[in-house]
Amino acid sequence: MFQPSVFSEMTALAQQHGALNLAQGYPEFGPPEEAVEAYRAALAEGWHQYAPAAGLPALRQALSALDRRRWGNAAPAAADPESEITVVPGATVGLYAAFLTLLQPCDEAVVLEPAYDSYGPAIRRAGGTVVTGSFAAPDWFALLSARTRVVVVNSPHNPTGSVWSREDWDQLASALESFPNAVVVSDEAYEWMVFDGQESFSVRQVDALRSRAFRILSLGKTFHATGWKIGAVVAPPNWTAQFRQVYQFLAFAANTPAQKALASALELRPDYPETLARFFQDKRDRLDRALRAGGWDVQPCSGSYFLTVRLPHGTDDWAWARARVADAGVAVVPLQPFYIDATGVPPAVRLCFAKNDATLDEAAKRLNHWKNQNPL
Ligand code: PMP
Ligand code: GLN
Repeated sequence: MFQPSVFSEMTALAQQHGALNLAQGYPEFGPPEEAVEAYRAALAEGWHQYAPAAGLPALRQALSALDRRRWGNAAPAAADPESEITVVPGATVGLYAAFLTLLQPCDEAVVLEPAYDSYGPAIRRAGGTVVTGSFAAPDWFALLSARTRVVVVNSPHNPTGSVWSREDWDQLASALESFPNAVVVSDEAYEWMVFDGQESFSVRQVDALRSRAFRILSLGKTFHATGWKIGAVVAPPNWTAQFRQVYQFLAFAANTPAQKALASALELRPDYPETLARFFQDKRDRLDRALRAGGWDVQPCSGSYFLTVRLPHGTDDWAWARARVADAGVAVVPLQPFYIDATGVPPAVRLCFAKNDATLDEAAKRLNHWKNQNPL
């Protein structure tokens, strides 16, 4: 029914060929030591059974405290841990359950492309119809209708690394004034990875949207722990109540010791998420510099942990990416699978820079060498 995920395919190919894997988006390093130690302690203390369906209170409180640290104690954007935060097994499940909560047959969901691969299949399984627009320049007038129930936003953006400004959010808010039924599903998996001093805006900071917005978090991304599968969904109390009714029959609860560990880590290191911007900006710069020196057409990246590189016009980026695993020893992700219909889209590939510096240097060296051997 659905195609295999491009991330699984490219990772399998990378393993088969012993290639460097800059394809699937996961870090080559682990969580901060405080989090690992707290996980060990949680196991030793016997945190083995179901957490409450809404999530461990300690983690919900820590996430709320993080909001207040970021936006101020009295900020309306800060989520209430009891009625507005639900911990889930990763952002993917959070998104799926949000679509199941919101969509009925005949409802439309606007997805801006290129788009993360899980949105389309999850929306369709929930009964919705996907309406696609351009992430770079969404034409809200053409995209929204009386049938629009969901608008998906993803900033910082996977795969392009673009970050929405306050102006982008305001444009969406003003377009939605005429469509009171539409709800924004804001995928903020990369919220801490914003570069060059730019501000990272959450949908919760937009006054006109907060009462009709789901904010989706991935603590796997924030804590370099994608395998722990912990995320959270933040929504106003009325929506959270409905979301929890759906979610209780999907997963019921998320991994208990991982929740305990993340709650402790956030208590011990409340500043940790703020360190990610600098950390990943240095990695972006390192890979960007090395690839540009090799003559690649690297696109600007303001956030996330992905760089995109344009390929010559007419290239099939799928075939190109598969071939480079074998002959360059580097796995990347083609952009075609980020579109329902990629006809006419400029060919490009995505590289994940959440890797050790030595891996980034070696990947750039191999790609530059390949390019030297295969001039246009
Ligand atoms: N949204 C985006 C934009 C992503 O890149 C990813 C992958 N991390 C997810 C959601 C899913 O996150 P998780 O691993 O927490 O399910
Ligand atoms: N989010 C990650 C990416 O974009 C991968 C997640 C997955 O493999 N499903 O690469």
